[in-house]
Amino acid sequence: MLKLPGLIDVHTHLRVPGGEHKEDFQTGTAAALAGGFTLILAMPNTSPPLASAGVMRETRQKAQRASHCDVGLFAGASPGQRRQLADLAPHAVALKIYLNETFGPLRVEDLVTLLTCFQTWPRSKVIAMHAEGPNVAVGIGLAAAYQRPVHFCHVSRQAEIELIAVAKRQGLPVTCEVTPHHLFMTAADADRLGPLADMRPTLATAADVDALWAHLDTTVDCLATDHAPHALAEKQSANPPPGVPGLETALPLMLTAVHAGRLSLERLIELMVINPRRIFNLPEQPDTYIEVDPQAQTTISNQELHTRCGWTPFAGMTVTGRLQRVVLRGQTVYDASPAELKNRLLARPGSGHVLP
Ligand SMILES: [Zn+2]
Repeated sequence: MLKLPGLIDVHTHLRVPGGEHKEDFQTGTAAALAGGFTLILAMPNTSPPLASAGVMRETRQKAQRASHCDVGLFAGASPGQRRQLADLAPHAVALKIYLNETFGPLRVEDLVTLLTCFQTWPRSKVIAMHAEGPNVAVGIGLAAAYQRPVHFCHVSRQAEIELIAVAKRQGLPVTCEVTPHHLFMTAADADRLGPLADMRPTLATAADVDALWAHLDTTVDCLATDHAPHALAEKQSANPPPGVPGLETALPLMLTAVHAGRLSLERLIELMVINPRRIFNLPEQPDTYIEVDPQAQTTISNQELHTRCGWTPFAGMTVTGRLQRVVLRGQTVYDASPAELKNRLLARPGSGHVLP
């Protein structure tokens, strides 16, 4: 049995408020613990979005009542609410700016809002961006102009990761994350699975995937799930929303990569604990660790999931490495031994801390 630190996911969608039929703080943080994550950061593209102080305050209270693990919330940048950024900041761990289209209406396309973000958001808190294609260059330009850190979410294309590598070599304060689905799936899987493998950014070519793996030991800072659950009926509808769940499959997939010699266990811990904590300035969690059996083989199954959506694009895949136990602040909060799913979660709703 291996003992590792509790994992940190800097990119999770918990769907509160407005999407509770997809996920909420209780089911999302249960899925987090079942995936070995003891601290997760939730994205602001909810309905309404976490772009005003009132919604942020209410959502924090809901998180505090229901969460099984520690949770931080992102504030969202929105042109109509850009004057609220200063009021939002004390309640958020970071700011998210959507430069490209994704699920929900949060989007920034005008330079005035971008400048307001960089001028008013506190320097002690990171600005994270959903930036695809040429928008990566926009983010790098803003990081350089304002001399402040920018974190790029779910980088998926060869040209993007190569540009970020160049910016880092120039000493610019940029960091980035990649997701397991962009490491383990290509556009061919999107053809096979249809809406169940549709997310933003979309799955890429084999050459893009190879480039992400090639930069995993150097340019990539974090491994993030971009856990983005939707109900199966929504995914099978005429207008399927983009996004796939990921909290419960990230660790087994990455342990499989360690088993195959594609990355070291030390690097996995840097990508899933050490760098996320440093970049997002997150507190240590004392007496917190996970136990994994690195040799156990399992087949990923929809029936084993805690996420409310109840499906994963990785169903049927055989993985090597299984989570056995999660300890948060000295308490066993998850134990994979019981056969019945509902007996594995041992944390009380509300026992998680809400940051900051
Ligand atoms: Zn996302």
